[in-house]
Amino acid sequence: MKVLVINAGSSSLKYQLLDTNSQEVLAKGLCERIGIDGKFTYKAPGKPTVDAADVAMPTHAEAIQAVLAALVDPLGGVISSMSEIDAVGHRVVHGGETFARSVRIDDRVMAALEENVPLAPLHNPANITGIKACTAVMGPGVPQVAVFDTAFHQTMPPVAYVYPLPYEYYQQDKVRRYGFHGTSHRYVTHRAADMLGKPIEALKLISCHLGNGSSIAAVSGGKSVDTSMGFTPLAGLPMGTRSGDLDAGVLEYLMSRHGMDIKEMVSVLNKKSGVLGVSGVSSDFRDLCAARDSGNDRVALALDMFNYGVKKYIGAYAAAMGGVDAIIFTAGVGENDADQRMAIASGLEFMGVKMDPDANAIRGKEAIISAIDSKVKVLLIPTNEELMIALDTAELA
Ligand code: ADP
Repeated sequence: MKVLVINAGSSSLKYQLLDTNSQEVLAKGLCERIGIDGKFTYKAPGKPTVDAADVAMPTHAEAIQAVLAALVDPLGGVISSMSEIDAVGHRVVHGGETFARSVRIDDRVMAALEENVPLAPLHNPANITGIKACTAVMGPGVPQVAVFDTAFHQTMPPVAYVYPLPYEYYQQDKVRRYGFHGTSHRYVTHRAADMLGKPIEALKLISCHLGNGSSIAAVSGGKSVDTSMGFTPLAGLPMGTRSGDLDAGVLEYLMSRHGMDIKEMVSVLNKKSGVLGVSGVSSDFRDLCAARDSGNDRVALALDMFNYGVKKYIGAYAAAMGGVDAIIFTAGVGENDADQRMAIASGLEFMGVKMDPDANAIRGKEAIISAIDSKVKVLLIPTNEELMIALDTAELA
């Protein structure tokens, strides 16, 4: 089956055309600056690449049209007509408590997506726009599926998702831990079971998605039982620019001292904090590693804080699950940064984690990076959210 995977943002749209039988990516690219001055990129193996500026894209509909035109282009295209696209899979950020799994989109689902907009006011409207643009351009006959970042975590028990606030805020306002990166955690934990040759039902896994945004999930028997992000992706680990967990008392103190309103304060927490805030140098781990190696102490502190945060979650989730069979590293930092992986795993020998430094000297490939006699296995698994979205879409379309 050929599935077009769409990840729509407010002014951007990432796309991939995948063949779900061969699991091959046939073409992929990005529409950026939608509604501004339209930038379009397209890549397909063995075909001429497109990298065009000033492409007329007043709305997401023109962006989808540009994608389809590139896919069927006689020179660079990979299909001969749009009818070869069997279905479209959309990444949707927030499914609230309504969606515990991926779903085929119909009017009822669209209404439920609209209802969940208050939970993700920046992201869900963009996802809805992407779905409407596909319907407008491709017609209502092409099946579309929504795959939610939050859905995988809907298996968490109340003890993990209820916040210690007046209970009415959960009942009336839906304030609770939802968790994100669910598609990634689901993908890598299933790959881990394959790599270990064990049924996922028999495994206790800790999945560390460490990228620009980072989250950790405790996955017991294939079900997410806890995760570090919360009501929003601002919770949990210190990230590239997000603070992660923080004493809420700091907010009032800083707002009054610096005359900030709540919007400015939250913007600091989302955009100026994390390893960027502490280091004062960058949110990008490549820059940080280089600066640390040239002797910058604040950068070293930022990286140490990040590793310390990951280590604490690993300990906490091993305790929450009553043990752990394997720890998974994935996403930009987890897949590429051998030093960070080593630093995180060091000191965990007491709980049966023993790394193999040679096996760990690897990037971006599935591998077991713990020693043969390590009681807890450590795995490097590149994430593939687009493939997971395409497979769900093929199943439901
Ligand atoms: P997101 O999808 O959340 O934007 P990614 O999963 O792509 O983020 O991760 C981006 C992060 O991965 C960046 O901080 C980047 O520096 C880091 N990264 C990518 N390659 C490497 C590398 N070779 N070494 C260290 N960090 C890397």
